[in-house]
Amino acid sequence: MKNIFIHIRSSLKILFLLITSAIIILAIFKFVYKPMYSVTFNGEFIGYVQDKDNLEYKINEYMKTGEGANVAYVDIPVLPEYEMCLLKKDKTTNDDEIYNTVKSTGTTYYKYYALTVSDEEKVYVDSKEKAEEIIQKLKDKNSTNKSKLAYVEKCETEMKEFTDVDTAVTKLYVKPVVRVAAATTGSVGAYGGTNSSAGVSIGMALTRPTSGVITSRFGVRSSGMHTGLDIANSLGTNICAAADGTVKFTGWYGGYGNLVIVTHGNGIDTYYGHCQSILVTAGQPVTQGQVIAKMGSTGNSSGSHLHLEVRVNGVAQNPQTYVYN
Ligand SMILES: [Zn+2]
Repeated sequence: MKNIFIHIRSSLKILFLLITSAIIILAIFKFVYKPMYSVTFNGEFIGYVQDKDNLEYKINEYMKTGEGANVAYVDIPVLPEYEMCLLKKDKTTNDDEIYNTVKSTGTTYYKYYALTVSDEEKVYVDSKEKAEEIIQKLKDKNSTNKSKLAYVEKCETEMKEFTDVDTAVTKLYVKPVVRVAAATTGSVGAYGGTNSSAGVSIGMALTRPTSGVITSRFGVRSSGMHTGLDIANSLGTNICAAADGTVKFTGWYGGYGNLVIVTHGNGIDTYYGHCQSILVTAGQPVTQGQVIAKMGSTGNSSGSHLHLEVRVNGVAQNPQTYVYN
């Protein structure tokens, strides 16, 4: 029995010594070494990192937000690989350098919005709200292209130049052409209408001489003063007298081409230019609404239309003061 006890005691002693020395070795080891990660990127060793979690977090954040405005995401095709190792404490780590190396391989995708007209990209804005605001404003202004307007979200590696809301609205706005009804539509009084500007009273009501689309209004053009109102329709469309009166002139008159002038008394004349054919003769009385000519493109004209003038004592007035207003 005694021998056995001695044997156990000496075994414990040895065990104690072993454990103690192991602790001492570990303590020395821990004092000199520390765990780190060696980083391999695209099959190449690029350094050691102390704080792997922090580096991975930074890379993830960069992929999500990138740098600067309007980044959708950053695509980093290959991520670094980490391998744990024990290195001497004075071994330098290069976390920042590794981060920058990984970052430099990223492709940034930008998110923005393109406003389209008939699916063609016209202007770019940085937010969906702005795109919607532009479309709403154009609809409010009754822009003719309103049904063709849309926006699409873009996600591209190339950034576009953005346009502000008001500039985009101005750029995309297309003024509606005024579709006027048939010639029988009644006119308003001598004054009135939104287009009247300091109009001279003619003390009589004019009716619309024809139907069509207003293509040019009275006023200064780059080519000079436009003394009348242009209403376009197909060749041969009826042109009617705007009021009762007497035909004062028919025939070719320079840029007017085939012209009919009807006088209504009190110095008021109406002119009907570019006619294809004339159905009345000078001196003939006409009644309001009577067909006096057919629409054409004679004289200085680039397409079938009526050039309508209202003159008071020879001075051209804005026809829209009296009609088509
Ligand atoms: Zn004209």
